Amino acid sequence: MAFTPQQAILELGPAFYDPVTAARFPETILRFRNDRAAAEIGLHDLGDEQWIAHFGRFEPLPGTLDQPLALRYHGHQFRVYNPEIGDGRGFLFAQMTDDRGRLMDLGTKGSGQTPYSRFGDGRLTLKGGVREILATEMLEALGVETSRTFSLIETGEALERGDEPSPTRSAVLVRLNHGHIRIGTFQRLAYGQDVENLARLTDYVLRHYFGEEPGDDAPQRLLGHVAARTARMAGQFMAAGFVHGVLNSDNINVTGESFDYGPWRFAPNWAPGFTAAYFDQSGLYAFGRQPEAIYWDLMQLASSLRLIAEEAPLIEAMEIFPEIFQRTVAEAMLWRLGVVPRGPEHDRPLIGAIERALVETETPIDLFYFHGFGGTLPERFGAPFAELRAQLAHYAPRKPRDHPYWSDAAPCAMLIDEVEEIWARIAQGDDWAPLNGKVAAIRRMGEALA
Ligand code: AMP
Ligand code: MG
Repeated sequence: MAFTPQQAILELGPAFYDPVTAARFPETILRFRNDRAAAEIGLHDLGDEQWIAHFGRFEPLPGTLDQPLALRYHGHQFRVYNPEIGDGRGFLFAQMTDDRGRLMDLGTKGSGQTPYSRFGDGRLTLKGGVREILATEMLEALGVETSRTFSLIETGEALERGDEPSPTRSAVLVRLNHGHIRIGTFQRLAYGQDVENLARLTDYVLRHYFGEEPGDDAPQRLLGHVAARTARMAGQFMAAGFVHGVLNSDNINVTGESFDYGPWRFAPNWAPGFTAAYFDQSGLYAFGRQPEAIYWDLMQLASSLRLIAEEAPLIEAMEIFPEIFQRTVAEAMLWRLGVVPRGPEHDRPLIGAIERALVETETPIDLFYFHGFGGTLPERFGAPFAELRAQLAHYAPRKPRDHPYWSDAAPCAMLIDEVEEIWARIAQGDDWAPLNGKVAAIRRMGEALA
């Protein structure tokens, strides 16, 4: 795959972004480069020096954007509309085609202030960057469509943060995303009654992300695609046991690719009320409420599109959400359990039985899937699993348990204590071995599941 630069975003015009410059950092120490992701866009041959020039100093990649663009958007944050946000500590750095022919973005986090920084410093903490590596690697291995952490470079500044012991170390992260058009990108245009640009954005997204031509029914077709993709994302979160933490409408990509990892956590067991963010006191974005939260965001997209479409076709377009959510939960859970689906009439009761057994016994989610992979539950799963065991007897394994991962003493998990331990080793002794070891272990699990 050769690097294939793009600059599609420029089609949208200057009302969608502000040209910005990256901060100049006192240091640029390469901490993580994702060569697997780089190979997909033809950048794996960059030497470390070139890598740092592009992803630490943001020298343009030839043929793509001449200057970084801070993207404009609004959004509902915890259900409150905020017209003051936008790329406040990041920008779109480059666009290119990947090895599947998709239009991709390299975007940043922590690259400096922009017109949308408000009172923020435009920076990312090194801990925040390390956490984003761990989240994205784990989600990818578990089959969740996610942005990828492409690069992490430590930048040598001392940051003050309320939620980390301060001063704390700084970094700049680059992520590889299937687009950065958010529900909030549409909301901003609707807020300004900008009918023309709303139609233009709708056509842009249809063409570049869904391979369709515009037309009179463009808004409802777009909404249908976004409904399907975001329902899928919600379903994949449930199977992964993942709690995103901040499902605000500005954090929802219309391609349904999960991204922007802040206070995320993996749920230790199947607890619908489990929350990730300490500031989510009402549990709005709790584990079990994620589908509802994502659907609520989708409704905000529908409201925005009301400016350029009738109500009835929009409502109709959204109706597929619950069905696709249910279907994805089943597919994703059976995939993780390593069995071949048998059809909704069998699979749905099976999913119900899994949920009941996991809730009743508080079995760690990772442990259940690890031992159950292939469909045969070992003896240690007792009476509460009897119904489930009987149903599973009719399921065939998706692949043999012959990868060495399945002989490990314990599953590869990503619970908060381990995340904190990995960070503590970096913070206390600049010891990166636990992080690198964890990434390797996650990728090995990914191989076993794939
Ligand atoms: P988030 O909760 O990360 O999705 O961010 C919400 C908004 O706050 C976005 O507009 C971000 O760009 C902005 N933001 C978050 N942290 C900072 C920061 N340190 N400096 C400037 N803007 C920030
Ligand atoms: Mg965000």
